[in-house]
Amino acid sequence: MRTPILRFAPSPNGYLHLGHALSALMGYETARSQGGRFLVRIEDIDLARTREACVSAILEDLAWLGLTWSEPVLRQSSRFAAYREAAGQLADMGVLYPCFATRAEIAAAASRSSLHAKDPDGTPLYPGLYRGRNPTEMARRRAAGEAAAMRLDMARALHLAAAKLGGKPLGFTERAPDGSIRRVVARPERWGDAIIQRKDTPTSYHLSVVVDDAFQGVTLVTRGTDLLAATDIHRLLQVLLDLPEPTYAHHRLLLDTHGRKLSKSDGAKSLATLRSEGWTPADIRRSVGLGDKSLIA
Ligand code: GLU
Repeated sequence: MRTPILRFAPSPNGYLHLGHALSALMGYETARSQGGRFLVRIEDIDLARTREACVSAILEDLAWLGLTWSEPVLRQSSRFAAYREAAGQLADMGVLYPCFATRAEIAAAASRSSLHAKDPDGTPLYPGLYRGRNPTEMARRRAAGEAAAMRLDMARALHLAAAKLGGKPLGFTERAPDGSIRRVVARPERWGDAIIQRKDTPTSYHLSVVVDDAFQGVTLVTRGTDLLAATDIHRLLQVLLDLPEPTYAHHRLLLDTHGRKLSKSDGAKSLATLRSEGWTPADIRRSVGLGDKSLIA
C-alpha cells in the first residue's frame, strides 16, 4: 500500500484562526493515525495579498499547536511554471479560451441574462461573453498586451472528460469521520466556464490545487465542507490532465455566533491572539471539538 500523504494548505493573506486549527489538526492526526506523511503547503498564488509576516506566523502557530510536518514547505509562488504548463496542456486540448471582460462587465451581463443562475458559492454564472469568439482576433488582443483570464469551456471539457472516462461517471470518493466511504457524483457544470488562469496571476485556486496535490503525491485531501462543491472541478481537471485521483474527507466547519463560517474578516480571533490571552494548545483542541482524542477513525 502507498504511504498516505496529507496536507494543510493555508493561504497567507491572514492569520490562522480556530477554523484553520481544526483543518490542520485533522490532516495531521489522520496522517499520524495512518502512518502517513503530513505536508504544509503555502497557497500564495495571489502575490498582491500575500503577507510574509503571515507565512512565518502560520508556521509558528502550527508548531505551537504541536504539529510537525515533512520539509520542505511548498510555496505555490515557486510553481508558476508548472501551472503554466498544465494550462498549456488544457489549451492544446481546446478547452480554454481568453476572456477580456472586467468584473463589472460580467456582473452587468449576468444581471441582463434571463437565467440568473448562480454557482455553488452564490456568484452569478459567467454568461459566456467571450466563449466561441474568433481565435485570431483573441490572439491579436493578447499579443497586444491586453490582460485576459483563461476560462474553461465547460461543455467541451465535460465532453472530453466523458470520452476519457469511457462511460464511467465523473466522481470522487469521500471519506466520513467514522472512516466509511461513499462515491459522490461530480457536477462541475454547476460552476459554468470557471477561471483556470486569472488576469493577475498565471493560475487559479482550482488549477494550482490539482497540480500540486498530484506533484506532492497527496492521497487524502482533508479540508472544510466549504470546498466540497469545488471538488467537482478538481476532479474534472484531474481527468483532463491525467492526474491521479486522491480520496477526499471534507470536515465540518466552525461557525460563529451568527451561524457563519469563521473568518478573519468577520472578526474571528487569530490563534496568536488567543495564545496571548493565555490559551494553551489543549484549549484550542477542546474548543474545536477535538478534546484529547483524534477526530478521524
Ligand atoms: N488554500 C485554501 C484555503 O485556505 C485551501 C485549499 C484546499 O485545502 O484545497 O481555503
